[in-house]
Amino acid sequence: MLLQTVSARAVRLRSIYVELSHFAQRHAAWSAPRRLAPIAAPRQFRSQAYLRERATPELPAFLKTYKEAVEFPPATYDFETFFANAEPNTQVVLHGYLGSLSAISKSLSFATLVDPTMEHRIQLVALKNAIEKLKAVNKHSPVAVRGTVQRKKSKASDSVPKSSKDIWELVLEDIHVLNDFPKEIVMKPETVFPPEQRYLQLRSDAELREALMFRAKVHNVCKVELEGHCRPAFVEIETPLLFKSTPEGAREFLVPTRRPGLAYALPQSPQQYKQILMASGLPRYYQFARCFRDEDLRADRQPEFTQLDLEMSFATGDDVMRTVEGIIRRLWSSLMKDPAPEGPFRRLSYHDAMARYGSDKPDTRYGMEIIRLDHLLPVDLVNKISPLHDPIVEAFKLEANDNDPTETSKLISQFLDSPAGAPFNANPDGAPGVFVYNGKAPLCGLQPFGFEAAEQAEELLDPDHGDLIILQARPRAPFTAGSTPIGDLRRALHASAVSTGFKPAPTGFDFLWVVDFPLFSPSSDSEPGQGGAAGITSTHHPFTAPKTPMDVDLLLTNPTQAVADHYDLVVNGVELGGGSRRIHDAAVQEFILRDILQMRPERLEDFSHLLDALRAGCPPHAGLALGFDRLVAVMLGKESVRDVIAFPKTGKGGDDAMVRAPSPMTEEALETYHLRLRE
Ligand code: ASP
Repeated sequence: MLLQTVSARAVRLRSIYVELSHFAQRHAAWSAPRRLAPIAAPRQFRSQAYLRERATPELPAFLKTYKEAVEFPPATYDFETFFANAEPNTQVVLHGYLGSLSAISKSLSFATLVDPTMEHRIQLVALKNAIEKLKAVNKHSPVAVRGTVQRKKSKASDSVPKSSKDIWELVLEDIHVLNDFPKEIVMKPETVFPPEQRYLQLRSDAELREALMFRAKVHNVCKVELEGHCRPAFVEIETPLLFKSTPEGAREFLVPTRRPGLAYALPQSPQQYKQILMASGLPRYYQFARCFRDEDLRADRQPEFTQLDLEMSFATGDDVMRTVEGIIRRLWSSLMKDPAPEGPFRRLSYHDAMARYGSDKPDTRYGMEIIRLDHLLPVDLVNKISPLHDPIVEAFKLEANDNDPTETSKLISQFLDSPAGAPFNANPDGAPGVFVYNGKAPLCGLQPFGFEAAEQAEELLDPDHGDLIILQARPRAPFTAGSTPIGDLRRALHASAVSTGFKPAPTGFDFLWVVDFPLFSPSSDSEPGQGGAAGITSTHHPFTAPKTPMDVDLLLTNPTQAVADHYDLVVNGVELGGGSRRIHDAAVQEFILRDILQMRPERLEDFSHLLDALRAGCPPHAGLALGFDRLVAVMLGKESVRDVIAFPKTGKGGDDAMVRAPSPMTEEALETYHLRLRE
């Protein structure tokens, strides 16, 4: 009973206290003066002196120093507020990093204080005693300084009015070192630190820090669009990271557990969970999802990366594409100088993308479209450029932009002799056939074509003096995979022409959807695929729906001819993301896994949770994931996603060089997880 009374009283007292403190906070918020008030001898400086006096003599130096930094004086203001409200002759405490010191005379020195965001700076004026204090602090050390605000004395030469930030300086009274920056480290904006010292790179490289801040803004704009402007609104839902191994397409990372023989797998994407959410009555899902793929680190990939992942029920691929166009438009209109793309984005079928650009993610800004020429070329010429019997021969033109033929010849021979050109020379289907169009040469440099073919080729390619014409053979077979050799050559040669100044760099953003991918592709040796026995894998993933009723028929008769309702968002030669309409019918999903991909029954069992959810009246649904790191890199015009990730893994082996991961497993860990290393 007594206990109850006491605790009831305590509760009442606490609630009175909470109310009072709320009142005080509210009141403070209403009436907090925005002016800088002079501060009376700050408690923290006093307490430092107190600590110094009372310091136990036995304390080693490092503990003494640390003890002084434990209670450091709070800043009176951040720099921005300070600049907006500074008043002369007031005393303030500011936090920041100490910049360079310049001694003017024995009794006058200047230094800069850089604020914690490293965006603002203020001049510190040190007189007499303060000079010694200042000198004792290493450049770049974090400090708290106390000083008196004064207007900078303007020199006669300062005729231009200074910004409001530039007119103030602090007469230094005390400086409190919060930690030392080592003297031996040279840190300048242009210094490149090894990946082991990523923190120094971030600290010295304003562009890198700005990229991270920009990334946060991109995140925010996506959120605002999806939650605030889409109807029904999207809901951000987290899905588990400890997932299970399912053969979706990429190689997974396993997480062993203490239960013998049992492991989780990290998700290659939240694909299955998001589809299950569609069966769970949540019609609009999105998430900034961490995904993990143990892939060979091809150009600029990370073993862990972020996707803006979304899924919509009662929706088709068209609904998803419109939603994503809305996100892109809002991002561009909110954060970019370039105009936001208007109207629905252009759509290009996989076949046309491969035929016209030799790539399923073409950069469509610089022409150089590929055309077929095999129907008009003499057999002699075809035999010269390829050992293949009856190959397809394709061509493109690189415009010379007023460069004369000798410049063009120089460009192509330097390219083909360089490491970038080597794989094209070594193509077993034949090296590229190179022709420089020259108005002064016989048949304008196209003699090997013969008169008739030269005339037809001129009609199709419309070359000008100095232009380069490239021929390339390939086997007569349908397109598979992401590019053809001539497509790779088009891209590499254009990049080389830009880097050597032969052509201007393309500008702007050309968004397009690449659609109508084949539902299945031949299995590749380098990708794990879905591990079925059919020799084919799903081009996107095994949950992708066939596009039309006719493609449904093809599932029975000729599945490799079936087209998928799969769409990739491409801009300037970069695949920003991909998605598809899903199979929402359990029987069809099972048919694809078991009968078309020919998965073993135990692998099929790995998908039983998804099949059960589809069976429970799952509505039709579709979705997509945008590669978030890549999106930010594209917006900032960065070459590498590493420039927009705080702690990226290195290209070599996906190591985190700073923390040294992955690290060897200890005997103890092996034992805990019941593992044994194979000899
Ligand atoms: N899960 C897919 C991927 O990671 C994206 C999607 O289909 O929504 O590529």
